[in-house]
Amino acid sequence: MNTVDIAVIGAGPSGAAAAIRAARQGVDTVVFERAAYGRDKACGDGLTPRAVGALAELGIGLDGAHLIEGLRMIAGRTERVLPWPATGRFPAHGAVWPRRRLDAALIDAAAEAGAEIVWGAEALPVFEGGEDGENGRVVGVEAGGRRWRAGLVVAACGAPGKAARMLGATRVRQEPYGVAIRSYAASPRHAERYLEACLTMRDADGHSVPGYGWIFPAGDGAVNIGVGALSTMKRFKRLNLNTLLDLYHDQVRESWETGPYLERPRAWRLPMSSVRRHGPGWVAVGDAAGLINPMNGEGIDYGLESGMIAADLFVRDPASAPELYDRTVGERFDAFLRTGRRFSFLIGHPAILGAGLRLAVGAQAVADITLRVMGNLVDSESPGSAGRVLAAADRILAAADPLLRRTRARG
Ligand SMILES: Cc1cc2nc3c(=O)[nH]c(=O)nc-3n(C[C@H](O)[C@H](O)[C@H](O)COP(=O)(O)OP(=O)(O)OC[C@H]3O[C@@H](n4cnc5c(N)ncnc54)[C@H](O)[C@@H]3O)c2cc1C
Repeated sequence: MNTVDIAVIGAGPSGAAAAIRAARQGVDTVVFERAAYGRDKACGDGLTPRAVGALAELGIGLDGAHLIEGLRMIAGRTERVLPWPATGRFPAHGAVWPRRRLDAALIDAAAEAGAEIVWGAEALPVFEGGEDGENGRVVGVEAGGRRWRAGLVVAACGAPGKAARMLGATRVRQEPYGVAIRSYAASPRHAERYLEACLTMRDADGHSVPGYGWIFPAGDGAVNIGVGALSTMKRFKRLNLNTLLDLYHDQVRESWETGPYLERPRAWRLPMSSVRRHGPGWVAVGDAAGLINPMNGEGIDYGLESGMIAADLFVRDPASAPELYDRTVGERFDAFLRTGRRFSFLIGHPAILGAGLRLAVGAQAVADITLRVMGNLVDSESPGSAGRVLAAADRILAAADPLLRRTRARG
C-alpha cells in the first residue's frame, strides 16, 4: 500500500486547486481522475471576477482566457449592459476560458507543483476496518485494484456519483438543484467582451422557465451557448433541455450570426446542497459539496476557493482539518447559498418570476445591484446597497421559508 498526505478524487477545478495549494506547501499529494488527460466538462466556461480572483490566488495567469468586462442582461425587450462592479475584494474583469483548456492549465500547475496525477483511474474511498458508511473513518482510496493510505481524502468528484454516495455527500432531497446544457457555435461576435444572459426563457409550450439562456464569447472563433433551469419550476420533470437549447439558439441566431453547433450539446447536473461535506478523514469540495450558486449556476469560483481552504487547513493541522473546513466553508458560503435556494423556490412561480424580472432590469441602478447580488460579488468590507439588498433578502426569505416550501410550484 502507498502512503500519501492527501488523496484527491477528481481533477476538475476544485481538485486541482486543492492539489496545487497542497503540493506547493510540500504536502505529498496524489490526484485520481477517471477520465483521460484533456477531459472536457459541460460548462458555460464563464469565470466571474470572483473566479478570476481565486485563479490569481493560485498564481494562474489568464493567458489562455478571453477577458470579459461585464454582462448584458436581457429580459423580454429590455436590455441592460452591466460592467462588472469595481470592488476592493475582486478584480474588475471576468473571463471565458473553455474548460478543456482551463482544467488542463490547472492540473498542469498541480503536476508542476509536485502532485502526482493518475489518469483513467476511478477512485473510491476506503474506510477503516473496511466498514463503509456515513460515520466510518476514511483512511485512503482504492483505484484500479490498488490502495493508497492518506491523511486526508478530498472528494472533488463533481455532481454526486458513487464516491460521494459512499461518503454520504449527496444532495439534500428537499432542496432545489439545477440542470444545464451547452454547446459551441461559430460566431463573428466571438471576441466581444460581454457575456449575454437571457432571463426570459420559455419552454416549447411557451411556459416561462426559471433559469437562463447564455451566450459567452470565447474569443477563439466560437461562443459557448447554453441554457439552464431550476428544479423548482413547474413541469421541471418534463423539461427537454435539448429542445430548450434549440429554442434559445433560434432566438439568438440572427443577432449573433451563429453557425450550427460545433459539438453535440452536453448536459449535466448542478448540485446546490449537500447532506454533509466532511467526516473523519475526508472533506468534499466544489460541486461534490453542493457549492453552486442557485442564482446563476456558477460554481468554478467556489470550487477553487473550497479546494484551497481544504489544503490550507490540512497544512495547518491534519487532525482538525475536516471539522474546521466544514466550519470555514459554512461561514463563507452557507448564508448566501441558502438565500439563493430560497430565492429559487420563489421564482419557480411564473407570476413572481415575471414581476421580479421587471423589477430587476427596470432601472440601470437596480440591474447593477442585481448583478452584484446574483453574482455573489458583494464585498463584505464595503457591502454598499447590494449588501443591504442581500441582507434584507436573507431576512425576508428566511422568514418566508416554510411558506416558500409549502407553496412551491408543482407539476
Ligand atoms: C452546462 C453547465 C454550465 C455551467 N456553466 C458555468 C459557468 O459558466 N461558470 C461557472 O463558474 N460554473 C458553471 N457551471 C458549474 C461548473 O461546471 C462546476 O461548478 C464546476 O465544474 C465544479 O468543479 P469541480 O471540480 O467541483 O467538479 P467537476 O468539474 O465536475 O470535476 C469533477 C471531476 O471528478 C471526476 N470524478 C468523478 N468521480 C470520480 C471518481 N470516483 N474517481 C476519479 N475521478 C472522478 C470527474 O471525471 C471530473 O473530472 C456549469 C455547469 C453546467 C452543467
